[in-house]
Amino acid sequence: MHKKVIILGSGPAGLTAAIYTSRAALEPLLVHGPMPGGQLTTTTDVENFPGFEEGVMGPDLMQIMEKQAVRFGTEILVDKVVEASITEKPIKLKTESGKELTCETLIIATGANPRFLGLQAEKDLMGFGVSTCATCDGAFFRDVDIAVVGGGDSACEEAIFLTKFGKKVYLIHRREELRASKIMQERVLNHEKIEVLWNSELKDILGSKEKGVEKLSIYNNKTEETYDLPCSAVFIAIGHTPNSQLFKDQLSLDENGYIIPKPNSTQTNIEGVYACGDVQDHIFRQAITAAGTGCMAAIEAERWLEENH
Ligand code: NAP
Repeated sequence: MHKKVIILGSGPAGLTAAIYTSRAALEPLLVHGPMPGGQLTTTTDVENFPGFEEGVMGPDLMQIMEKQAVRFGTEILVDKVVEASITEKPIKLKTESGKELTCETLIIATGANPRFLGLQAEKDLMGFGVSTCATCDGAFFRDVDIAVVGGGDSACEEAIFLTKFGKKVYLIHRREELRASKIMQERVLNHEKIEVLWNSELKDILGSKEKGVEKLSIYNNKTEETYDLPCSAVFIAIGHTPNSQLFKDQLSLDENGYIIPKPNSTQTNIEGVYACGDVQDHIFRQAITAAGTGCMAAIEAERWLEENH
């Protein structure tokens, strides 16, 4: 299949690029994996996306965006791109199911994935009390003690959400100051069910697949004490890794793997290849900024096609 525009990713960046390129009659193909919608589908209330006075649920917002993109002619392919040859035109992509796709312009909106601490127990007990998504798994842990690791907006949001279910929520943070925005900090610090464990590092998660998480081994880096904290679940919320591995030999990436676009642009080091959303943004990482860069990528792709065809 040959397309003028192929978009990879279905978060706010990819879908905004799809809305704009489909409205420009470019008939884009948007490719996404089996869990569409990006990170917003793992969040609850989105209160800061303009246009929703009372807030909107993340998954609902993504469904609305997808319907809007499809209404103007975006074609959606549920598959995974496993090979990409992007330095020459046409750009060639190969998918997991064996499809070969070619295009003139490529918009990369593949987002970022949650990071882990690197403990063996995170892998062993994932889905058995260890999670990276409170919205997905929080309801399994009613009236028990729950912990969240991290000190950013994600960790605070997860902790607040989990108070709906948990008896108590511990926020385990390695420093004595939260990184989260002031409003989230206030909500966490004033919440009667949340206790922040400052200067604390999660060293191990104790439990089994049969019994789930039972205890957390916590190291206080100020007192240099290690102790066990009884807990039934732990949510890891320590940031993200950009999904740029597929392009690492072809695109300019920074030391953390974020794609580096040209200044004031979404254009990458390769003509006709654009990057938008969290795969190129380690600073703002908001749904609205992702959508903004999706719009930029679409307009830049459209202009490039006009000039080159
Ligand atoms: P983040 O801001 O990068 O925060 C990551 C947190 O995890 C930091 O507190 C960091 O500690 C901690 N951390 C990182 N690596 C760690 C490790 N190995 N061990 C222990 N702790 C570790 O990530 P985020 O919270 O996912 O937020 C990302 C962006 O999305 C931010 O711009 C945020 O504002 C935005 N966001 C917004 C909303 C909202 O507005 N509703 C919700 C979620 C996220 P240090 O502080 O010590 O570095």
